[in-house]
Amino acid sequence: MGKQLFRYSEEHKEKFLESENITFNDGSVVTSEEIWHYLTVEGPKKYPGSFEVNLYQGNRNSRDETLPTSLKTHYLGLTFSDRMEKAKDRGKSIAFIQGGQAVDPYTAADTIALRPGLVNQWNRDLVHGNDINKEFLRRKELKEKAFHDMSFEACQTGGYEHIQAGNLRVDVIAPFTVLRCSDVSYGVEAHRHGPNKNVKLINVDYPLRHQADKPWAIEYFAQNLRKLVGTLDEVTGRTTSEEDLLASIKLHNEGRRLGTELSELWWSTDVPPTNSADRASLVGLGNLDNHGDVRASLSVLKEAKKFIAERVKNGVKGHAVPDNPKRIFILGSCVGINTARSEDSGAIVVGKDDQWSHCSTLVEEEGDPFYNLAKYTLEYPYEQSIEKRAQWTIEQIKKSRADGVIFIHNWGCNTQAAVARPILDVIKREIGIPTYIQERDLHGLQHEQEQNRVNAFIEML
Ligand code: SF4
Repeated sequence: MGKQLFRYSEEHKEKFLESENITFNDGSVVTSEEIWHYLTVEGPKKYPGSFEVNLYQGNRNSRDETLPTSLKTHYLGLTFSDRMEKAKDRGKSIAFIQGGQAVDPYTAADTIALRPGLVNQWNRDLVHGNDINKEFLRRKELKEKAFHDMSFEACQTGGYEHIQAGNLRVDVIAPFTVLRCSDVSYGVEAHRHGPNKNVKLINVDYPLRHQADKPWAIEYFAQNLRKLVGTLDEVTGRTTSEEDLLASIKLHNEGRRLGTELSELWWSTDVPPTNSADRASLVGLGNLDNHGDVRASLSVLKEAKKFIAERVKNGVKGHAVPDNPKRIFILGSCVGINTARSEDSGAIVVGKDDQWSHCSTLVEEEGDPFYNLAKYTLEYPYEQSIEKRAQWTIEQIKKSRADGVIFIHNWGCNTQAAVARPILDVIKREIGIPTYIQERDLHGLQHEQEQNRVNAFIEML
């Protein structure tokens, strides 16, 4: 039996065409008309999996057709792999990053910074015409190789297998050694011994725990940021100045400010103005790093804020959001629940700690930009001691008016697995909110088992 594919309906075309164009880093522009054409003609042919009506991405496709910026984030996602290939053809430098950091230094050094999820997405979408099951099987085979070549103890989201096989033209492996991510150390070490000698390595050494208010630690990390930029410059052949870094900080501060304002607007009303998936993809634009092009993210983010403000003012509810949904806050790295199916069960995701941690504060713009960036990075709420991280999380839970909290950790995500229980203990002690912990295999397809537990929690709420 053929797969059922979702299609954008012509009835929403006119409104979409009135929306703004997207401007990219290189100054190129894609018009709303071109985006519509891609989403309705080219995209479904190239990536049928993304349009498939499948339980794995919800009983229905969760796209909000009356929210133009929802379509634009879909467009940026679908074109990501092609855009990375073109960027490499033009000689652009690409770094693999890991550790949940803001990408200001990479932007300053004219380098595209890609997190694990994006590296996997780049590789996945090099192949066209796959449905969800075929995509999943291909990924599973590649991950088996990575487990074999690297370690079965690692979460394996880093895309080691794609980079070492030379399938992706990544120039430099440049993660931060933050506490949150145990995969970083496995990955850098495995790359050091791997067969691909074309890829440069730098580990940005991050002083761990209780260091944020110590001047030596800030100075030390500022030096490491300078080393990072120096390594990125060796690849590009340019010299990144303090002015470049300050310009990048200002650009990213604009993203963080808009992302925070968008999130606060969303939280300000009892009628959720978007569904969970759109909330995540639009607020997520605030870090400007989700689509491999900071200017494109910023241009969609600015427009998204206008649309959300309008919806909040007029009390418009997002597509497929249930009435009076139970509000869930998600904790943990590189995780999420099936938001469409959770909405079908009467809930909505109102926030996550991962990524939000470094969007919700700004970098000081006066003074030495390396020092300021180092200070801001050492202060990431997600990287603090258990008690401090839990206190910050409680503030976010209160702001979002969540009814319940789910802490999810992937197999191989050692720090998050260890801190899940104590963090939830502090949260329960302080605000008495229902919580539960879920472990999962990042690359498995245990969808029903996971969803059963999420649904039971929603019923309990
Ligand atoms: S799941 Fe955990 S160990 Fe794996 S990349 Fe994410 S933070 Fe790192």
